[in-house]
Amino acid sequence: MGFATIAIHAGQKPDPSTGAVITPIYQTSTYVQEGVGIHKGYEYARTQNPTRSALEANLAALEGGKFAYAFASGMAAINVVASLFAAGDHCVVSDTTYGGTFRLFDKVLKNFGLEFSYVNTSNLDAIVKAVKPNTKMVFIETPTNPTMALTDIRAVANIAQEKGVKLVVDNTFMSPYLQQPIALGADIVVHSTTKFLNGHSDSVGGIVVLNDPIIAERIAFLQNAAGAILSPFDSWLILRGTKTLAVRMRQHEENGRRVANFLVENPKVKKVFYPGLADHPQHKLACQQMSGFGAMISFETGSYEKATRFLESLKLCLLAESLGGVETLVCHPAKMTHASVPATERDRLGITDGLVRISVGIEDVEDIIADLEQALSIM
Ligand SMILES: *Cc1c(COP(=O)(O)O)cnc(C)c1O
Repeated sequence: MGFATIAIHAGQKPDPSTGAVITPIYQTSTYVQEGVGIHKGYEYARTQNPTRSALEANLAALEGGKFAYAFASGMAAINVVASLFAAGDHCVVSDTTYGGTFRLFDKVLKNFGLEFSYVNTSNLDAIVKAVKPNTKMVFIETPTNPTMALTDIRAVANIAQEKGVKLVVDNTFMSPYLQQPIALGADIVVHSTTKFLNGHSDSVGGIVVLNDPIIAERIAFLQNAAGAILSPFDSWLILRGTKTLAVRMRQHEENGRRVANFLVENPKVKKVFYPGLADHPQHKLACQQMSGFGAMISFETGSYEKATRFLESLKLCLLAESLGGVETLVCHPAKMTHASVPATERDRLGITDGLVRISVGIEDVEDIIADLEQALSIM
């Protein structure tokens, strides 16, 4: 079956008691037992909930994994993956990883004895050099935020396998429609479902997808033990979101390309970061490991003053954190999403004060471009 068909049907069948086509929101905390210990597989709603199970089956199918577990946020999902490890274990992490992931690793989990090395994972040698005898995980994000640098998933999967460490890929920026890390050799995929998977900027959630049954059992244990589960209502919203994932991503992708080409042509724009551009340093890799280039674009305005003047002049595009919604969202990474990264580190990573990030929505692209154009003319 094709992706769109899987997105619409996987994990869901009409409700046997009523025929309802859509999986209901099972808003319950507990389930009646026929006799002591005799039940239908549902005992308590932290442990199991049918709406959540439907979403988990749906997202497992979309990512090409056997198992999936849904969490209250992307960070809760990443926290559970990190909880697979113990004090003294070491992880290699993309140095341009999402700011919240860096904060969790550096400000929380480090205090529990986990060790992290942040390296430029676009450089395979840097990964090989960073792996130590106690390394247990390589955690990558590709493309990274906000500079759109890519990491070669298959090559890193080969390194990870050789070294006996697990490869975890945060696939939030691409969604399984455009990139399938498990098929490229990743052990675990995580997502903030808040972004493209839900797609409508009205829910916060996270998912962990994987194939290994032993690790899956441990994740299920941690999901229940730590309890940061996704609510039935949010599960239902994301199921609703994934039904249109294929059509939304096609439009995001088309609008993304159009906006990137517009920005390249505009004389006020100094540089555009988008893997779909032929001058992107990893354009070839993008063509190989992604089935499209997505809708995340960054561009350089030249200064903080220009960036803020541009952002504050927009009329249609919304100045907001987050991404992956149907509406175009624009932000200033240095002051917004990456404010928790120290200034010297931001400089090294290319997150300048003049950099602007766009999550291109699925409005009529002419309207998006007209808004960007008028704001650039004021800048
Ligand atoms: C948003 C985001 C997260 C965190 O997800 P939340 O749902 O906000 O907790 C993690 N990784 C990436 C790439 C993100 O964009």
